[in-house]
Amino acid sequence: MHNLIELTKSDLEAFVADELKEPRFRAEQIWQWLWQKRVRGVEGMTNLSKPLREKLAAMAVITWPEVARVQQSEDGTIKFLLRLGDGKLVETVLIPMQDRYSQCLSTQVGCAMGCTFCSTGQLGFERNMTYGEILGQVLVGRQYLEDRGMNPLKNLVFMGMGEPLLNLDTLLKVLNDLPCERGLSLSWRRSMVSTVGFPEQLRILGEMEVALPAISLHAPTQELRARIMPKAARVHLDDLMAALRAYPMRPRERITFEYLLLKGVNDSLEHADQLARLIDRKKGKINLIAYNATEGLPYEAPDRAQVEAFEKRLWDHGLTAFIRRSMGADIKAACGQLKAAQTA
Ligand code: SF4
Repeated sequence: MHNLIELTKSDLEAFVADELKEPRFRAEQIWQWLWQKRVRGVEGMTNLSKPLREKLAAMAVITWPEVARVQQSEDGTIKFLLRLGDGKLVETVLIPMQDRYSQCLSTQVGCAMGCTFCSTGQLGFERNMTYGEILGQVLVGRQYLEDRGMNPLKNLVFMGMGEPLLNLDTLLKVLNDLPCERGLSLSWRRSMVSTVGFPEQLRILGEMEVALPAISLHAPTQELRARIMPKAARVHLDDLMAALRAYPMRPRERITFEYLLLKGVNDSLEHADQLARLIDRKKGKINLIAYNATEGLPYEAPDRAQVEAFEKRLWDHGLTAFIRRSMGADIKAACGQLKAAQTA
């Protein structure tokens, strides 16, 4: 039995031609029902004939990830804990922007990278998420917003649980199908893939021109990065920066660097100076995120004044840097924390 949301656009076309023995336009119709109209059952596909619906229902189902819990933060962030078909739990978060929402998606159950400041990293790696599980998060998010007449979902960030570039084959299929007009209709220019950075995978992502990367840097030197992100730092910072210099970009496009400020670890002005030496101000911009203290992890939140001084120092060096709101702190919106709370 197929779960129809597990089929990529081209898989669906092959299924319709080879198994249903129907003309190609049927694939377009089914695709539209699945991703644009978000039907939850084959019987809802009302422009297919009854016999065809019956035939399809005998071969396929439509199964979305199940919502295990929803929490809304005071700042408007909406966090979902989703249960997958095998009972595994993942998180996705809707983040309010001015007139729209951005959704943070998970790509793996757990994560193998073990960054020392991250709850997901402490849970370890369980498995890659499938195509339908990754995009199923978008179906759940959009449906939630639409049911409540809220602003539309326009941006995606692959920044939830997991390291997206270690699930690259599936990620590329997802990114490839995002812009489909009769589907999710989400522009890849509004999609960002957050990664600790793997040169070969970045090269492939760049060649495919399907998303812009955001690099989870978090340290301005190889030594410090090896201390706080030991597995990520197996790729030497010099090699990572060389891969980024080669990343194909259009004029005015920039690579985003994520920098989580940890009190007394990476938040001094000297670290800001080192960061400014590392990043080409014409090609990169920096998102600063103040760490939220998390139970069981050995770090503290930085002082507000220090965060602001750090940002100012980067601007003094001519870099573009912004302090990102640390959204949803009251509902544990930092990566992996809700799941950790659920499984504790
Ligand atoms: S920060 Fe990202 S890459 Fe590092 S352990 Fe957490 S989920 Fe994995």
